[in-house]
Amino acid sequence: MTGRTDASAALFERGRAVTPGGVNSPVRAFNAVGGTPRFIRSAAGAWLTDVDGNEYVDLICSWGPMLLGHAHPEVQAAVTAAVARGTSYGTPTEPEVELAEEIVARAPVERVRFVSSGTEATMSAIRLARGFTGRDVVLKFAGCYHGHVDSLLASAGSGLATFALPGTPGVPESSTALTMVLPYNDRAAVEKAFAEHGDRIACLITEAAPGNMGVVPPEPGFNQFLAETCAKHGALFVSDEVMTGFRVSRRGQWGLDGAVEGWTPDLVTFGKVMGGGFPAAAFGGRADVMSRLAPEGPVYQAGTLSGNPIATTAGLTTLRLATDDVYAHIGAAADTIKTAAADELSKAGVAHVVQATGTMFSVFFSSTAARDFDDASRTDSKAYAAYFHAMLDHGVYLPPSAYEAWFLSAAHDDRAVQTVLDALPHAARAAAAAQENA
Ligand SMILES: *Cc1c(COP(=O)(O)O)cnc(C)c1O
Repeated sequence: MTGRTDASAALFERGRAVTPGGVNSPVRAFNAVGGTPRFIRSAAGAWLTDVDGNEYVDLICSWGPMLLGHAHPEVQAAVTAAVARGTSYGTPTEPEVELAEEIVARAPVERVRFVSSGTEATMSAIRLARGFTGRDVVLKFAGCYHGHVDSLLASAGSGLATFALPGTPGVPESSTALTMVLPYNDRAAVEKAFAEHGDRIACLITEAAPGNMGVVPPEPGFNQFLAETCAKHGALFVSDEVMTGFRVSRRGQWGLDGAVEGWTPDLVTFGKVMGGGFPAAAFGGRADVMSRLAPEGPVYQAGTLSGNPIATTAGLTTLRLATDDVYAHIGAAADTIKTAAADELSKAGVAHVVQATGTMFSVFFSSTAARDFDDASRTDSKAYAAYFHAMLDHGVYLPPSAYEAWFLSAAHDDRAVQTVLDALPHAARAAAAAQENA
């Protein structure tokens, strides 16, 4: 059992006095599960240490980036050496070229442009798609998250194939008036949208495999269908691999479907793993589309810290170390944990479905599989909150929301996995008790 939380609680109180909700990204605040977020002081390998000295096996991994585990010695050495050479010059640098080459070698893109966050990557990809096609409408799926881009913080209007409404105060209707939000995995809805608005659609953007509503994999052939439908109508297919890229396989989600089925997206967005724990992201794609970007073409896009030498060095070192062995190890650890989590929930009588793509998975507290956002929303978030806190009490830091993927790293060794396995029965019983009391 983990111990005191006084130091975290004190920092949370100070944080709330100077920062909205005490956090710099909402999900960190534990609003969905209650309680005090643990303030982390340090991390090494698979383990986090909080400011009270408690240790946790990390199943968040910074929401995906830490593929090799925390404070990997070779990444640390490369970054430290890079810092000693100065941290930002505002000129082109060698690591940018090397990281771009590494990405082009793995992913279905001919050119890449670096930015500093996944949000910037999707925002820029959409601008480029509109600039390239000369069209203005964007299709997205409910439950797919692409960062906090105004036009993508949209919720479905009433009925299919109508234009979207702002998903949050602060987004004007004019920003979502050109966005259509469709149910995921729904071919008929996609066909209807293209039939009605095909000649206005600049692009369709989708998570390559949704992980931001819990893991909801594309049905077999769905991404191929999207790519082909876009091509038929002269729209661009934008595959958002910010979460899945270099994470679910060495070539991302595309390595699991497009590379096998023989299709390529027009544009791809990257982030998370490719920054190796630093703020780096990218968008890339077909050379003829990417050449429309400034300074080669007329579509404007820029960034003071884009391609920052420290961030690109961390990303490059991470990707070079992300060998087939790394993915095989993470896959095996994920299988062990998935199976044990399901077994313990079954024993405790808690309805659940485990969904996965590649090495990324999540546990839905629901009796039926989720193929879209409506299904995913049926997860029992009260049971998850009880489950989450029991795991935390037993030294495992799960994502503090029922709608997130669980992430592992190459550093999740037998001791870390065993700690998770030991915690699971307690958590399953806590979830069962929460359902009985509901
Ligand atoms: C995390 C994420 C983003 C946003 O990236 P940020 O770096 O948080 O701006 C975009 N798309 C997907 C699929 C993501 O998972």
